[in-house]
Amino acid sequence: MLGEKFYIHSIYPATEGEGVLIGTPQVFVRFQGCNIGCLNCDSKETWDFNSGGISYSMDELLEEINQQAKQLKRISITGGDPMHPIHLPRVKELTRELVNRGFQVNIEASGTRVDDELFEMVSFISFDFKTPSTGVRTPISHLMHLVQQYPGKYQIKSVVESSDDYDYISKAYKRIFDQLEIHPVWVITPSFIPGTSFNRELIKDTYQWNNDQGGKFRIIPQQHKIIYGTDSLLV
Ligand code: SF4
Repeated sequence: MLGEKFYIHSIYPATEGEGVLIGTPQVFVRFQGCNIGCLNCDSKETWDFNSGGISYSMDELLEEINQQAKQLKRISITGGDPMHPIHLPRVKELTRELVNRGFQVNIEASGTRVDDELFEMVSFISFDFKTPSTGVRTPISHLMHLVQQYPGKYQIKSVVESSDDYDYISKAYKRIFDQLEIHPVWVITPSFIPGTSFNRELIKDTYQWNNDQGGKFRIIPQQHKIIYGTDSLLV
C-alpha cells in the first residue's frame, strides 16, 4: 500500500492557527506516518505508517482536495512527517499537480530533511527547529541552507516549553547571524500539551525571555488551540 498510494490521515479546510501565516484559510492535507518521535508531539495519532490513515490514488486525492477546498486556493501539506522518504516522492507529485492547478502550496517540514526540488516548487516552507524539550535535534546546517536559499518564503518554527528551550534556540539564532549576517525569520510556538488548559504563564514568560534578549523571535501562540481547546483535532 505505502509507496503506491497516498496514505493520508485527514483532509480538511481550516484557518491556519500558528506561525506567520496565522489567520489564513487553507486546506490541510495531513499525511499519515512519522517516526521522528517528538516528546511533546500534539498529533501522535499521525505516527503510525500502517494504520490510522486512508489510501488515495492521485485522482481520488485531487477530487477530495477540490471538494474540501471549494473556493480556497491554498493547501498546507503536513503530517505526520510529509518529508519522510516513504512520503516524499508522492508529496512532490502532489505538489506539482496542485501548482499546475493554480494552488499555492505550503510544506510543513519537520526539520530533519531538506529537499530543494520540493522547496523550489512550494510557495512557503515552514521548517521546524526542534528544541531540547522535544528530545530531537535539528542540524543547524539545514537552517543555514534555508535562510540563504529561500529568503522571503520560509519560517523557522520552534516549540518552546522552558527557558532552556529559549536559550537553545537563541544560541542557534546567534550562530546563524554570526556566520551569515542574516536575521532569520523565526517563530516561537509556546508549547500546549493536549488535554491541559491554556498556559498563559508560559506565553508571558516567553515574551519576557524574548524582550530581555533583544526580541529576536516572533512569539505566536496557537490560535486554534486557544479557540477550540488544547486537545481539539482537525481545526
Ligand atoms: S515531527 Fe511533527 S508529527 Fe512527528 S513527532 Fe514531531 S511534532 Fe509529532
